[in-house]
Amino acid sequence: MRNTELQTGIVVASMGLWSKIMTSDSTLINARVRGKFKQNELSDSHIICVGDRVKYAFLKDQTAVIEEVEKRTNWLSRNTQNTNYQTIASNIDLVVLIISLKNPKTSFGFIDRLLVACDLQNIPVLLVFNKLDIFLTDKDQKKLYKTKKIYEAIGYDTLCTSAEKNMYIDELKEKILHKTSVLTGISGVGKSSLLNLLIPKAQQKVKPISHFSKKGIHTTSYVQMFRLNKDTDIIDIPGIKSFGLNYVEPTEIAYCFPEFRIILENQPCQYRNCLHTRELQCSIREAVKSQKISEIRYKSYLSIQKKINNRTHEQSKLLFP
Ligand code: GDP
Ligand code: ZN
Repeated sequence: MRNTELQTGIVVASMGLWSKIMTSDSTLINARVRGKFKQNELSDSHIICVGDRVKYAFLKDQTAVIEEVEKRTNWLSRNTQNTNYQTIASNIDLVVLIISLKNPKTSFGFIDRLLVACDLQNIPVLLVFNKLDIFLTDKDQKKLYKTKKIYEAIGYDTLCTSAEKNMYIDELKEKILHKTSVLTGISGVGKSSLLNLLIPKAQQKVKPISHFSKKGIHTTSYVQMFRLNKDTDIIDIPGIKSFGLNYVEPTEIAYCFPEFRIILENQPCQYRNCLHTRELQCSIREAVKSQKISEIRYKSYLSIQKKINNRTHEQSKLLFP
């Protein structure tokens, strides 16, 4: 017999049909997903994701079954192999992107793709440049400053930290207080080290240096939520290679770059469907030429555009072989 009274909780881990739910008094329980969610319109195998607010009922064996999922305020996804996408986290107030400019280097392509994914969902992003302690030479410091400046100039919040030397960790903590934040970055940037400083009970495994310098390391870690206090949660998204943009239209992309958006609103291109790649009288290309738009950001734009073009091509091949 099922207790018919539904309780509310938040999904803190999701493994196929099973989820871990945090109840309103912060205890953790295992819950099964009700079959009907599987046929959801999203055609997404993980219908439930970390961050989802759910209603569940207890079963006799003290596990639970999820009966309802609240509408998500926003969500992030990753691309899956078949041109589709998988939702990995939802109801996010802030994304904290951990970046390292060396050992290992986070590419601009990765940063900008994440910024686009967040802009589409109206999620603010904090760019954290970690490993500050290894930026000692003038040349290194200039590089760090220049990169930080590119993003500050277009409105993003930034912070430099060192997990190794415990520098600016309180400042980081301050920025995530009273929020549900996603912590993410490529493998090796120090995300686990920072998470352990923010939430000692998280006890994420810190990888030895040699581990991430080799390509193709397989990580078995999964997305999970940690609670810092009653109204502060951190969702850890480990080892992601790229965030999903599979649901975006090519003409939408430029509007997800804030500095492009301002230009397009004030001075539209000649063609309404301009993709800003080679069209004439294109305000974006003119802004790149006159250095109002950074070449680095424009390069990221072109790369995203190219991937989306390939995708549309692949999809049409499937539809019209
Ligand atoms: P993750 O893959 O992003 O979770 O990275 P880890 O936290 O596992 O760290 C990867 C490696 O970088 C480990 O050897 C850490 O000791 C090292 N590391 C992390 N943060 C810093 C930092 O601020 N400075 C330096 N020099 N090394 C760091
Ligand atoms: Zn244009």
